[in-house]
Amino acid sequence: GREPVVEAPQYADVAGLLPVPTGESDKYRRGVVGIVAGSARYPGAAVLAVAGALRGGAGAVRYVGPAADAVIARFPEALVSEGPPSKAGRVQAWVAGPGLGDDAERLRDVVDAEVPVLIDADGLRLAGERAVRERRAPTLLTPHAGEAAALLGVSRAEVEAGRLAAVRELAGRYGATVLLKGSTTLVGSADGVVRVNPTGTPWLATAGSGDVLSGLAGSLLAAGLGTLDAGSVGAYLHGLAARLAADGAPVGAHDVADAIPAAWRDVR
Ligand code: AMP
Ligand code: MG
Repeated sequence: GREPVVEAPQYADVAGLLPVPTGESDKYRRGVVGIVAGSARYPGAAVLAVAGALRGGAGAVRYVGPAADAVIARFPEALVSEGPPSKAGRVQAWVAGPGLGDDAERLRDVVDAEVPVLIDADGLRLAGERAVRERRAPTLLTPHAGEAAALLGVSRAEVEAGRLAAVRELAGRYGATVLLKGSTTLVGSADGVVRVNPTGTPWLATAGSGDVLSGLAGSLLAAGLGTLDAGSVGAYLHGLAARLAADGAPVGAHDVADAIPAAWRDVR
């Protein structure tokens, strides 16, 4: 068969993909990203996903779930509700999973949506291969090695030993784009293209940083990027934001979210 492409996006490629508003833009045309994340046990995952989403270029962030009070306390610009996601109003792309716990019903409602969906963390465990395959809009899965191993039914060590193969296998099985997180992040589409992310820092190995990436990449989806571009631009900005925020010292995930605008300016 055809030899699949492996490429590292250059600075200029990323700059050309950033969704920059024009005079004709309004908040709906910029895109509304919906966040289905957080639980009574993990409200912070919702806050961090919203934090990433607010810096991703969508015109509005809609949070749906039990952490609405925590989200609003930190981000008054978020739109919040607690009912089913399908009743929440206009959304151009969903992010589902960070800190979600076992809320399979809420996850199912998002998987059934006919707009792009990013699935991360607990959502990966709940979604189901068949349901994702049968989706009528694009899907972006964002596992770390342990989550990828669980989806493939292999050990974490096996994924770490063959990360490129794992991305391709998962993308093929799920008919989705797969962003495999780790010391080097790979983003691969179902047709075999894999991009290697050139940014990042080991300071990103801190609780909650993946939740920020989910919101950021989901916001790029809502702004109109395809799954491969949203995943690779999201990973690029996230890794650059972490380098700028950390600058050789420990940071929390919220610091990475706060540095996304600086990363964006650096790329432009
Ligand atoms: P999660 O595992 O969902 O919390 O996401 C962790 C985030 O940190 C992802 O964006 C990973 O790519 C990144 N990350 C974790 N470990 C490292 C590492 N050793 N070097 C660079 N990035 C890392
Ligand atoms: Mg995670």
